[in-house]
Amino acid sequence: MTQKDIRQELGLRPIINVSGTMTSLGASIVVPEAVAAVSAILPQFVEIGDLQRKASRIIARLCGTEAGFVTASCSAGISLAVAGAMTGCDLAAIERLPDTTGLKNEVLLMTGHMVSYGAPVEQGIRLSGAKVVPVGQATSANRYQLEGAINERTAAAVFVVSHHTVQYGLIPLKEFVEVCHARGVPVIVDAASEYDLKGFLETGADIALYSSHKFLGGPTGGIVAGRKDLVRAAYMQNSGIGRGMKVGKEGMVGTIAALEAWETRDHAGIRERETRSLELWEQTLSGRPGVTPIREPDPTNNPLDRLKVAVEPKEAHITAWDLADALASGRTPIIVRDHEVEHGYFYLDPCNLHPGQEKVVAERLVEELEKARQSNEIIATPLERRRNRSSEALMRWPD
Ligand SMILES: *Cc1c(COP(=O)(O)O)cnc(C)c1O
Repeated sequence: MTQKDIRQELGLRPIINVSGTMTSLGASIVVPEAVAAVSAILPQFVEIGDLQRKASRIIARLCGTEAGFVTASCSAGISLAVAGAMTGCDLAAIERLPDTTGLKNEVLLMTGHMVSYGAPVEQGIRLSGAKVVPVGQATSANRYQLEGAINERTAAAVFVVSHHTVQYGLIPLKEFVEVCHARGVPVIVDAASEYDLKGFLETGADIALYSSHKFLGGPTGGIVAGRKDLVRAAYMQNSGIGRGMKVGKEGMVGTIAALEAWETRDHAGIRERETRSLELWEQTLSGRPGVTPIREPDPTNNPLDRLKVAVEPKEAHITAWDLADALASGRTPIIVRDHEVEHGYFYLDPCNLHPGQEKVVAERLVEELEKARQSNEIIATPLERRRNRSSEALMRWPD
């Protein structure tokens, strides 16, 4: 990078992200096409309805569907799509939300899909005024339970595609859609982090929701795509609960540019570069005492592999979480994917690296592992202390 790093000016740590597309780290590297589009539109006036019409055509083309619009985030998309399913195009009802008196207001969600992506999925639904009806138990959901949950108050069903959800024992999307459609219930799929722009709608979902700022490499935004009447009803919420979820012209234009760039992106080349990073880290780690690198495919079938780094503290002289923390400190902080770290492993995700950063990651791994090996004691911080660290930090913010 020849450009000067704005993070330095702001006094922020120059982190390297091998964690994934995390909101808390600034989501993703915005593609140059989107950066250019954002800066080109910022000084101009536009008619927002027309800009959203343009977005609709491009979203429809890329998602193989009828219509779409851009909102503030995928999370906003959940609230707006659910609201639209309740109100239809009734403007008076739209203004009354979150009061749902007189409307169908129940929304079905499998218990195994009640996850948090940084905020609870079910809260995104409840924000509209809807009532969440859980289907099944944490690790199981059956057709009869979904059928039994549908009644005359059912407005919609939400289906979440994510590595966060329970990955077994639940109703697959195809069957979920079949059961819902047999009773006239629209299905909204939260596919925030998924590369597949068409598959969920092809499988029968009525609405699919994506984040602009995740794999697409757009600015912060959300995409609502699908059946025209439902998309329109969701769009109309902008004169109601959607106002606080407003996206600006830059978010719309940036999302459009990111979608168009997605069509022409060298996906194979990117995959190859990611594979080379994984290979470098694998070679760097293999044979090191107490460290086992294993390449793993993405749990929701995105075309992306990650390197699982399992750490055996007796041999490595450090726990997986202390290694993650050591990497995250120092002059070149490296943030790994550590949400399962209590099992003794973390992941290295290659999809958000600038060229050359993979080498820095390899060097820092070696540095910290060698330091640990030289330590006479096993570096092992109690997990309890780490578990509550982020909520404790929040309590002290902004200090
Ligand atoms: C990231 C994520 C969201 C939230 O997306 P935003 O666009 O950041 O609001 C919702 N659902 C899932 C499954 C996610 O991974």
